[in-house]
Amino acid sequence: MKALALEDRLVVAIRDVPEPVVGAGDVLLEVHAAAVCGSDIHRFVRGHREYPMILGHEAAGVITAAGADVDPALVGRHAALVPLIPDHTCDQCLAGRFSACRAYSFVGSRRPGAFAERVAVPALNVLLVPDELPFEQAALIEPSTVARHLLDLGGFGRGQSAIVLGAGSIGLMLVQWLRVLGASLIIATDVAEANLEAAAALGAHVTLNPTKLTVADEVRRLTGAGVDLSVEAAGSPQALASVVEVTRPKGTVVLGGNQPVDASLPMSFVEALMRRELTLTGGFMSYSAPWPGHEWTDSLAAALDGGLDLPAMISHRAPLAQAPAIFEEIGAHRLVHRKIVLDPTARS
Ligand SMILES: [Zn+2]
Repeated sequence: MKALALEDRLVVAIRDVPEPVVGAGDVLLEVHAAAVCGSDIHRFVRGHREYPMILGHEAAGVITAAGADVDPALVGRHAALVPLIPDHTCDQCLAGRFSACRAYSFVGSRRPGAFAERVAVPALNVLLVPDELPFEQAALIEPSTVARHLLDLGGFGRGQSAIVLGAGSIGLMLVQWLRVLGASLIIATDVAEANLEAAAALGAHVTLNPTKLTVADEVRRLTGAGVDLSVEAAGSPQALASVVEVTRPKGTVVLGGNQPVDASLPMSFVEALMRRELTLTGGFMSYSAPWPGHEWTDSLAAALDGGLDLPAMISHRAPLAQAPAIFEEIGAHRLVHRKIVLDPTARS
């Protein structure tokens, strides 16, 4: 079958690779849509721990085979991929902390991913979806679950105010979930005007560009003491440094963006955190008990009832065969994009 292989830093190519092996407990998913995640781009630009690797973990398609011990009635069903493969047996899994599993695998980084015609995964790693949900929307359930999970971690409740720092894919999903869950005020920040326009269209009441004004001053002007909940989704040290100033005393800060490991934070951050008695929490992946978590069923329901506008998240659609050219554009910073959805079934 054809697959997009990451063969070195900044090197991807369409290759003929062996068909996936459908083991006991597995299903074979024929991929109809696979979206490019920021982490895929990171692995392409910065390199990965092993080569070749088939990336891709935001995906959906049709189940075309079922291994031993799997209900054969699953064959023919449409499904979204659930990419974390925990062992379901360690102490962390038994406590419901699947993303802290001591022996997990992950589709598209530790085992072959969905930038391919087919991918084999455990039957526990598909979320069945109705046939009428377009594949490209089912593929975006995964990034939706990440945003939903971050709001859970922040203890968000209806009527609260919130700021989303960074209006990339996860930031825009956060804005949408805040709208769906009934935020009283949604503020979004980004350095790119196009992202702010998207945030406003998807539910942000106020958009702020930190290159043009001082975000903390604007937030104080709008809220007095700051917002109830701040979510850092930019992965930017500057955005991170500002979270304490924009959050009200006793408010909550959730960290969702991957920061550069060589950056550092001034200790005044800690002092501000203490003086305001803020709650600070990190977020990793999108899972909770019972497996894979309500984040997944909530996201499917909101995709089906139109609460989430998933088509608005997509800027590019292309056959898988065009992926090397697209990644080259991304690597050269020549492509302004939101979600890019690849279709391995489409002819180039
Ligand atoms: Zn485990």
